[in-house]
Amino acid sequence: TKLRVGLLFGGRSGEHEVSISSARAIARALNVEENAHKYEILSFYIQKNGCWLGGELAQQILETGIPQLETQNLNPWRLPDQVTEVDVWIPILHGPNGEDGTIQGLLTLMQVPFVGSGVLGSAVGMDKIAMKMAFEQAGLPQVKYKALTRAEVWSNPCVFPKLCDEIESALDYPCFVKPANLGSSVGIAKVRSRSELEAALDNAATYDRRIIVEAGVVAREVECAVLGNDQTKASIVGEITFHSDFYDYETKYTVGKADLLIPAPIPDGVSRQIQDMALQAFAAVDAAGLARVDFFFVEATGEVLINEINTFPGFTATSMYPQLWAYSGIPFAELVDRLIQLALERYKV
Ligand code: ATP
Ligand code: MG
Ligand code: MG
Ligand code: MG
Repeated sequence: TKLRVGLLFGGRSGEHEVSISSARAIARALNVEENAHKYEILSFYIQKNGCWLGGELAQQILETGIPQLETQNLNPWRLPDQVTEVDVWIPILHGPNGEDGTIQGLLTLMQVPFVGSGVLGSAVGMDKIAMKMAFEQAGLPQVKYKALTRAEVWSNPCVFPKLCDEIESALDYPCFVKPANLGSSVGIAKVRSRSELEAALDNAATYDRRIIVEAGVVAREVECAVLGNDQTKASIVGEITFHSDFYDYETKYTVGKADLLIPAPIPDGVSRQIQDMALQAFAAVDAAGLARVDFFFVEATGEVLINEINTFPGFTATSMYPQLWAYSGIPFAELVDRLIQLALERYKV
């Protein structure tokens, strides 16, 4: 009998559309011959309002790639009946309410294995402030930063200027203002002046209670994929090149705006250092199954800084994570199979 794989996609997140694309690629991988005899897909679509759809409706969205607009289910706690039939879940969700430990908590309580990190790894990996604290403890080099809260940013007009003064004295321009819990560069701004800083902080506060401001670095952007549970493997390192000001949402998702270079044309020693740091970062946040670790390679000094970890990275056929593994000898369909096996293995012990 086939293992029933619950594909969970969409989600109450700024990365809803990306999630649908990732889910379609994973569904295609499960339908190739080597996998189709082992696995059967059950689809679950989480609408932008957080309410779940299963069965035919979810299957349709997976097939067409078009998000469901009319709402069939208005209760986020009312789960489709098919939920009880799932043997293993793949929560193909990016960003808040999916990559951050919330869904992982629900699936843990269901007592069904799932692909990827658990509650702790997902939560620490998603929150850029907690993540940076974990990296700091692990001795991983990173940019200078300052952590803030929405309450501080939206405090009375006498406090806000002091806050900006503190940021300006701790970090130089340009710096990067980010909502702590997001992805795909949503809500991120590169700021070069006081007025841009003020506007970016206000904007970031609309996305998250927690906000981070980072010193800007001039560097090449390189990424490494990690696969495994307690025994982890690092992939070949890849580089992203683009012409825009930084790797923003539009650059990430407009065809032709960015190029992936695999392997990254960097010295072997630097690659090995990045692979080593990727494995350390994976362990530092207690990730499991998969993660993509993003780095800055400062060519001028030879320095490598860790930027961040993504515990459920983009997973379309052209995304960096599966491409890095393809070049490292694990084709897409086999990668999905391995991730399911890792989920089962982690659940057993
Ligand atoms: P992902 O889609 O990878 O999850 P994200 O939303 O978590 O992205 P980051 O990776 O933190 O965002 O930043 C997005 C991009 O912004 C980086 O790839 C880089 O181009 C730029 N960037 C972020 N922080 C810095 C920094 N401190 N210095 C220079 N560039 C930065
Ligand atoms: Mg990220
Ligand atoms: Mg991400
Ligand atoms: Mg990133």
